[in-house]
Amino acid sequence: MANLIFKYSAMNGGKTINILQTAHNYEENNFKITIIKSKIDTKGKDSIISRNGEARKVDILLRENESLLTEGNYKKYYTSKVILVDEVEMLSESQIEELWTIAHLIKIPVITYGLKSNFTGNIFSPAVAKLFAVADDISEIGSSCLCLCGKKAIFNSRRVNGVFTDQGETVVIDGSTSDVEYVPLCGDCYLKYVKIKDKHVKKLTDLVNKVL
Ligand SMILES: [Zn+2]
Repeated sequence: MANLIFKYSAMNGGKTINILQTAHNYEENNFKITIIKSKIDTKGKDSIISRNGEARKVDILLRENESLLTEGNYKKYYTSKVILVDEVEMLSESQIEELWTIAHLIKIPVITYGLKSNFTGNIFSPAVAKLFAVADDISEIGSSCLCLCGKKAIFNSRRVNGVFTDQGETVVIDGSTSDVEYVPLCGDCYLKYVKIKDKHVKKLTDLVNKVL
């Protein structure tokens, strides 16, 4: 039996370290593995790079509309013991369907790693929604709020020129423009720093003050 697995976390959650460790474990036992990432993820070009600087070239750098079910790509992964996907939120819904088919038809386990939500607090992409719908196993790689409040990070907030924002394009790779960075925050800190002007926050704050 082979499964399609989705492991998600906030930014800085150690997803890439987890992939590199999993790859190492398989290769130590002389098993072939295939690592895939989307070409949209321009960080590291054709490699995945963990926060501690460890890097590894991917086997398939998948273009936006590229199929995994071509002879050329099939020959790259068909003898693999496992397929590992980094930043899976950048794939397309169709590519997730292909990965599911690979897992269940030719019995190669597929472990995907990525973000659950984007900086606006919504499901990151149709690919992530699809994973939540069809993945055989879903688990969270826990990470901490960057404010060191001790709570679990849920949100990937965007900071532009040092100011938190929930406006703009969904995919802006950090480091691609020097002023964009992502900050993992817990719910309380997300409300405090990003959602403070949100209509619901304002309405409830007014109520709290009124009924004092
Ligand atoms: Zn916090």
